[in-house]
Amino acid sequence: MRTFTEFPKNVKCPICNTNKNSETMLIGKVGTEDGNNMQASPIHTDCLDLRLDENRNFIFQVLTDHRFSV
Ligand SMILES: [Zn+2]
Repeated sequence: MRTFTEFPKNVKCPICNTNKNSETMLIGKVGTEDGNNMQASPIHTDCLDLRLDENRNFIFQVLTDHRFSV
């Protein structure tokens, strides 16, 4: 998967809630598919802590909801 060294200034990583510059990848957003296009969210690769659910054939990471953080 392609990675980037700079994080966009206008958004935050949904895991750490910062936009510090470090290795970043784009993760497609479920429900935004439009033909071959999809919206994506930049996420720091160091923030990923993925789990594989072999029974449901699913890779995921549960996120803290920063919308309610102060
Ligand atoms: Zn992050």
